[in-house]
Amino acid sequence: MSLLEVKDLSVSYGGIRAVRDVSLRVEQGEIVALLGSNGAGKTTTLRAISGLVPYSGSVIFGGKDLRKCSPDEIVRLGLGHAPEGRRVFARMSVRENLELGAYTVRSKAEVGDRLAFVVSKFPRLEERLNQLAGTLSGGEQQMLAIGRALMSSPRLLMLDEPSLGLAPIVVQTIFGVIKDINERGTTVLLVEQNARQALRIANRGYVLETGSMRFEDTGAALLENPAVAEAYLGTTVSS
Ligand code: ATP
Repeated sequence: MSLLEVKDLSVSYGGIRAVRDVSLRVEQGEIVALLGSNGAGKTTTLRAISGLVPYSGSVIFGGKDLRKCSPDEIVRLGLGHAPEGRRVFARMSVRENLELGAYTVRSKAEVGDRLAFVVSKFPRLEERLNQLAGTLSGGEQQMLAIGRALMSSPRLLMLDEPSLGLAPIVVQTIFGVIKDINERGTTVLLVEQNARQALRIANRGYVLETGSMRFEDTGAALLENPAVAEAYLGTTVSS
């Protein structure tokens, strides 16, 4: 059984269909990339999986039907979501933001352990634990948003455009951390505009086009696919 199985997912906003009959699966231990142009429906797909928007179709996580679960229960089941746009709590410190990410964890000692793990991945955050999150740089806020999602120790971590707007060196750090947490056992569903980098670390990938699934293949095969290369990688395969 797949860890996550999405079948025939459709989402409409006020009569406009943003996602149409999308199916995808994520196996335990994988990194799966979900790609597509602006407005293709990537964020909407993640928001539906997290129970944040109403949908038709089915979402099964760890054998459980998520339609019957609140967003809060979904987090407790082990599904972490780092949303797009660096949504950190600006007037709270870095430490408070991280601790909020562990709201499902009762034991203080465990929260401490997870905090230590997150700052070991992002030493920048350790130096700034008492700084207000709103005063962090864009890249640091992105690290904080990912770190906060990691605080609940999710079985599956969904990341929405973690590299958006970041300097190349910070992008490298973030992709390195994604690979590393995956090697330590966290399954990852990664939404990215940076298709080439995402496919390099992904086992498999999906490409959405105006709300519908267009391609599905291994990361390596998608990198070699001329239609994907031209539309999403900014090159032709021969270049
Ligand atoms: P991007 O890469 O630009 O973030 P995306 O693939 O994540 O794009 P979505 O944000 O899922 O795309 O948007 C899919 C479509 O749904 C778009 O046409 C968008 O305008 C529309 N949409 C998204 N959120 C809403 C909303 N709250 N109300 C109305 N329409 C929405």
